[in-house]
Amino acid sequence: MIDERLKIMVKQQLKQRGIVDERVLSAMSKVERHLFVNKSDIDVAYDDRPLVIGCGQTISQPLMVAIMTETLALEGNEKILEIGTGSGYQTAILAELGKEVYTIERISSLQNDAKNVLKKLNYNNIFFKVCDGTIGWDEKAPFNRIIVTAAAPEIPLRLFNQLTIGGMMAVPVGSRYSQELKLVIKTENGEMKVENRSRCIFVPLIGEEGWSK
Ligand code: SAH
Repeated sequence: MIDERLKIMVKQQLKQRGIVDERVLSAMSKVERHLFVNKSDIDVAYDDRPLVIGCGQTISQPLMVAIMTETLALEGNEKILEIGTGSGYQTAILAELGKEVYTIERISSLQNDAKNVLKKLNYNNIFFKVCDGTIGWDEKAPFNRIIVTAAAPEIPLRLFNQLTIGGMMAVPVGSRYSQELKLVIKTENGEMKVENRSRCIFVPLIGEEGWSK
C-alpha cells in the first residue's frame, strides 16, 4: 500500500514534472517519507505538499526536495553540509547520494527525532549538530556542497566561505514569505556565481545571517 503510494509520488510528482536525474529518482524511490512525518499524518505522507512536523516547522514538499537535490548534482563522493535538519527526510536523501552529510538544526527536539529515525534506518554517514547553522560548521569545512532548507534574507556569506573551490550551495533567498531558489557556485578563482532556479516558499532561517525571531 505504502509502496504503491511511494511509486505514484515519484512518477506523478517528480518524473512527470521534470526531475530527470536517475540517482535522485532512485533515492526518492527508496526513502520512505511516511517515516519522517507526524503519526497523525501517515495517511497523507505522500501528498504533493509540505506537512507540519512540530515547533512550527515543516517537512518540504517532495518536489522541492527533488529540485534542491537535483540542483546539487551529486555524484557520490561529496561532503555535504545541510542547514535545517527538520524531519531528517532531506538528510536521508542526501546520505543516499553523497559521501557524508553534516546536518545542523537550531531546535534540539526536532533534531533528536530526526536522529532517531535516521539511526534506525542505519545511516552511518550522517553527523549531527544543534546550533545556529548560519555560522556553518567551521571545524568540518570545507564542504563540496551546502544546502539550506530554510529561507535566507541574503546569501549567507559565512556558508559560502565554507565551500570548496568548485563547490555549490542551494539556498532559498528572498522575503520571509516568498523566495527564489539560488544555486551559488564558488568558481576556480574563489568568486561567487549565482544562478536563479525556481520560486519557492520555505520557513525562515533564523540566526546571525538569517532573520531575527
Ligand atoms: N529539510 C527539512 C526542512 C525543515 S524546515 C525537512 O524537509 O524536513 C527548515 C528547518 O530549518 C526547521 O527545522 C528550522 O528549525 C530550521 N532552521 C531555521 N533556522 C535555522 C538555523 N539558523 N540553523 C539551523 N536550523 C535552522
